[in-house]
Amino acid sequence: MIDLTTKSIRGKIVAGIMAAIFLLLVGKLAQLQIVSYDYYFQMSEENRIRLVPRTAMRGKIVDREGRTLATDRPAYTVSVIPSEIRQLSRLSEELAPLLSLERKTIEQKVKERRSRKYEPVPIRRDIEFASVCIIEESNELFPGVMYQLDHARTYPYGNIAAHIIGYTGEVDERESKTQFRIGSMIGRAGVEKQYDQPIRGIDGVDYQEVSATGRILGSLQSKPNKDPIPGSELGLSLDLDLQVLCDSLFGDSLSGAAIFINPQNGEILAMVSKPNYDANLFSGFVPRDAYQQLSTDERRPLLDRVIRGTYPPGSTSKLLTAGAALELGVIEPNTPFKPCYGGYQFGNRYFKCHKKSGHGSQDVYGALEVSCDTYFYQVGLKLGLKNFSDIAKKCGFDVLTGIDIPAERAGFVPTEEWYNKAYGKNGWTKAVLLNLGIGQGELLVTPLGLAQFYCGVVNNGNVMKPHLMRYIKSANGELTQATPEVARQLPFSASTLAILKEGCRRVVQGGSGTAARSRIEGIEMGGKTGTAQNPHGNEHALFCGFAPFDKPTIVGCVVVENAGHGSVAAAPIVQQVFIRYFQKTGLLAPPPPPPLEDIVQL
Ligand SMILES: [Zn+2]
Repeated sequence: MIDLTTKSIRGKIVAGIMAAIFLLLVGKLAQLQIVSYDYYFQMSEENRIRLVPRTAMRGKIVDREGRTLATDRPAYTVSVIPSEIRQLSRLSEELAPLLSLERKTIEQKVKERRSRKYEPVPIRRDIEFASVCIIEESNELFPGVMYQLDHARTYPYGNIAAHIIGYTGEVDERESKTQFRIGSMIGRAGVEKQYDQPIRGIDGVDYQEVSATGRILGSLQSKPNKDPIPGSELGLSLDLDLQVLCDSLFGDSLSGAAIFINPQNGEILAMVSKPNYDANLFSGFVPRDAYQQLSTDERRPLLDRVIRGTYPPGSTSKLLTAGAALELGVIEPNTPFKPCYGGYQFGNRYFKCHKKSGHGSQDVYGALEVSCDTYFYQVGLKLGLKNFSDIAKKCGFDVLTGIDIPAERAGFVPTEEWYNKAYGKNGWTKAVLLNLGIGQGELLVTPLGLAQFYCGVVNNGNVMKPHLMRYIKSANGELTQATPEVARQLPFSASTLAILKEGCRRVVQGGSGTAARSRIEGIEMGGKTGTAQNPHGNEHALFCGFAPFDKPTIVGCVVVENAGHGSVAAAPIVQQVFIRYFQKTGLLAPPPPPPLEDIVQL
């Protein structure tokens, strides 16, 4: 019993001691966990926490039938955290071959961003998986280097609509001082730039706890990660079928521009600038020589000719000359002029008509149909420079159309003041009016500006603002739709507009029309050809067309550089795109199905 009692006492003592030790431990733990929490937290904030941004997925860009023109694909990005690098020169030496970059590029990127040394600096995007594995396996060789599953922009159709869609690029040091995170991707051109804000989404962030050697220990309980919010989808008015067809009609050898617009609401259906480039070249990692090659290419593939190419309109602007003269009462539709015998004598200069044998006497309809230069030389003279410039300006030839992509250029309308300044008061004569009357000389238009004018002519004088955006749909389904906007009113009455339209109808449907070969069976169409002199080489071919004649739903304007006469090179492109368009809307029978062997090959 005694023994037992003794044992029992001993047991109690031992248990008591153990309990005391346990309490002590618990107390210490509590001190560590609770009392000193803030202290340790601060320590870890300063040294052991990585703020890893998680890029939001950019919204898709789709055509009017929902076909994807731009999207994000998964890709690895390698970044460097400047504060964790031990020796930059050594690191860049190890990394350079792995990332196919030059050492100095890596060093420059890190140095540029020293001001934010705790944030990862993206060094190379879209890195191959094999390189990711090497970095992962040889962790100790690359202190301060991390890789992340990110996104790279991809353009499934490559060159198609490249100028419209644009591309994205990295935010640099200067931009990061405003609203963007350095190294993140933003839209740099096209609708990628115009609608960057809704497409970009909102980036999230991960708070990672890392060891002193940079090993990731886990995420922080105290600071929940913030998930990124994906960007909105951008729905364009573009019809990929028309876009692809129009692009193929130019082929690889022709340079020029084409634009197709619904004149009733300003929606752009196709917009082609040739030559173009593969937008994928600019997504992810951009090799320097690839950009260099594009920017020094003599054919200027980076130039968006639709919105930035300025051309003399040639005879397509005879609508402007006729419209101004009719509206101001300078001519009537049947005002007699000297007949065309192949040209017009003005002072000691003979101005030729494009038809050597001449067109004889014409009224305004006939003169538009055959595009008689002799007739329009005389209209120009009678109209006078001030009238011509005033009406051209009122028609919007020297202002921006307001299209929703950046970097548009306006056309140019010369005035008396301009000629005085350029040539001196006595340095020019009324002969400039002969040239202006037929669309040669100093008047310059962009293909888009010219198309917008034609849209106004066929839409009762209402000039709609051309636009590419149809809707923006946010990640949670919120929809913003584009509303058609009137840009201006043409200074032409209904009767003037009717005369101009009828002249255009005869150009295509008339027996002597310059675009008679491009008429479409089953659809009445109007238009005007043009051939613009080009001081740098062969003439440019132009055509502006619209259909159906009574209430047009499509206007097309095409410029083919150095290609000669508009009726030969430009009008057939408009014709082919119109046929496809009306087959789709049901006004023309659909094309016969492709032969079976083609389908099998697909
Ligand atoms: Zn003539």
